[in-house]
Amino acid sequence: MPPTRPQHVEIDLEPVLDPLRDIDVATNGPRGPLAPRTDAAGGTTSAAAVAADPGAPLPSEVRIAIVGAGFGGIDAAIQLLGAGERDLLVLDRAEGPSGCWRANTYPGIACDVPSNLYSFSYAPNPDWTRTYSRGGEIADYIAKVARDFGALEHIRFGVSVQSARWLEAEQRWELTTDAGTLRAQFVIGAMGPLSEPIYPDIEGRESFEGIQMHSAQWDHDIDFAGKRIAVIGTGASAIQFVPELAKVAGHLDVYQRTAPWVLPRTDRPTTAFERKLYRVLPITQRASRTGIYWAREILVAGMRGNKLIRGVLQAIGKSHLRRQVPDAELRRRLEPKFDIGCKRILLSNTWYPTLGRKNVDVIGADITSIQADGVVTADGQLHQVDAIVYGTGFHVTDSPVAGLITGDSGVTLAEHWAGSPKAYLGTTIDGFPNLFMLVGPNSGVGHTSILLSIEWQVNYLKQAITAATRGDISSYRLRPETMDAWVGEVDGLSKGTVWLDGGCSSYYLDVTGRNSSTWPTYTWKLRDRLATFDPAAYSVRRAEVPATPADAGRVKA
Ligand code: NAP
Repeated sequence: MPPTRPQHVEIDLEPVLDPLRDIDVATNGPRGPLAPRTDAAGGTTSAAAVAADPGAPLPSEVRIAIVGAGFGGIDAAIQLLGAGERDLLVLDRAEGPSGCWRANTYPGIACDVPSNLYSFSYAPNPDWTRTYSRGGEIADYIAKVARDFGALEHIRFGVSVQSARWLEAEQRWELTTDAGTLRAQFVIGAMGPLSEPIYPDIEGRESFEGIQMHSAQWDHDIDFAGKRIAVIGTGASAIQFVPELAKVAGHLDVYQRTAPWVLPRTDRPTTAFERKLYRVLPITQRASRTGIYWAREILVAGMRGNKLIRGVLQAIGKSHLRRQVPDAELRRRLEPKFDIGCKRILLSNTWYPTLGRKNVDVIGADITSIQADGVVTADGQLHQVDAIVYGTGFHVTDSPVAGLITGDSGVTLAEHWAGSPKAYLGTTIDGFPNLFMLVGPNSGVGHTSILLSIEWQVNYLKQAITAATRGDISSYRLRPETMDAWVGEVDGLSKGTVWLDGGCSSYYLDVTGRNSSTWPTYTWKLRDRLATFDPAAYSVRRAEVPATPADAGRVKA
């Protein structure tokens, strides 16, 4: 075998990319053969065989490793399989699919985006039982789509990825997992931004002798009936589980640091007629989806500074509060002090009535410490409780996962980002070749369905990977100047938005004060940017080719 040598050349990818551009962006998905499989036929790859047998050792190499089997990882697997990529393996630390919708099982869990939009564009579900689905139904939907579209057989569950390192000489990622080491040419990071729970750094937390639980790690064996419970946090999770806990608690203290904006929730069971209509005339469900999409997109104008829209939303919020909380003193404490949209807008019809219950207290004083039997507040009071439930959210801009990924210069993603995550199109990162993130920096959305960003990003990476297959490409390396221009663009778009100037602190902002999580404008602009893979943004390296006989001779000598 003659030795090989890498070629660092500029490659014209247009001829291979051209046929891949048959993307119908208007309907947010690939045209053509993406359809559920009705049987297991379709060829079994080695990756699929490994996934199917939980006892089998991991293969030493796959072409595409996808980390995470939530919405993102499953969409990536489905779209790549649809594009003919067969050598892909999805790894997930959980024992089943559905990601955060599997992990989060707290009582009352549901989605605050209507189901007709909170579903894959290519897999509408006429059977949603409610307009805003409950968590379990969403988890089941994800699992069903994974099965129907042939992705399930490519997922290996119960495998935790511990680190990933780019090997420049091999042009491969090396993933260390608790089930062995695996190399992959491409890695798709589909871990999701809401997968690493935050326990607040409160003095004495470990000394508490009662029950402690994070909303994302609910222990259903615990019976809260009659217990004195402290809930810390008033975000999207807490407003869903607090009303359920209050029904059974002996007493419930809700620690509110910042009063959120809460709007009415227009949730209702779907009717048999609707479900039949969606089944018989799928265009009606698509029309509903489109309507929801544009109604939510109008909110972006408010987030970007339109005072009229923000004013209307705030008026709805204040009227909701007035109608649901007759006690003027409690109402005063529940009134938000920042511009609506600065934090995620919450939807609930049960939150305010719950806070008015006799067995519930809203505590606004800061928590100074936790001790063996309760929570101590800044006024020196000890609030004795049997259980503390943390609705304190997730590591979004400071995910510990970034410390586990090492790029081409030996630095980790956490070091590279230095507290302020950045990714071109929320997807690729300079210094981290062949790594594609889903819902990466500045591709999150708070007002609409995150599945939009996911599908658009997968459409983008699918073009890159398929082009690599056809064009013999070994790596894409994002040009630093592309990244710099991109960061300038998103930072410019963030200026003047409610996320930066709305008078709140939120997980959208990182430690430097940048908005590094949310897409700062209309989502269709992100769709347009992700519609076409742009090889000019990358330094493209061709796969190794046999060297000339003369080279071979020199090496031997
Ligand atoms: P979150 O929105 O980050 O809220 C965390 C809460 O904990 C905030 O109220 C925060 O107060 C409070 N907190 C944190 N540390 C505290 C401390 N030391 N003392 C007192 N309070 C403290 O977390 P989340 O509610 O879990 O929601 C996270 C995200 O998950 C949501 O934004 C959403 O994207 C997603 N989610 C979605 C749904 C859905 O329906 N689709 C449902 C649940 C969650 P401050 O506000 O003062 O910081």
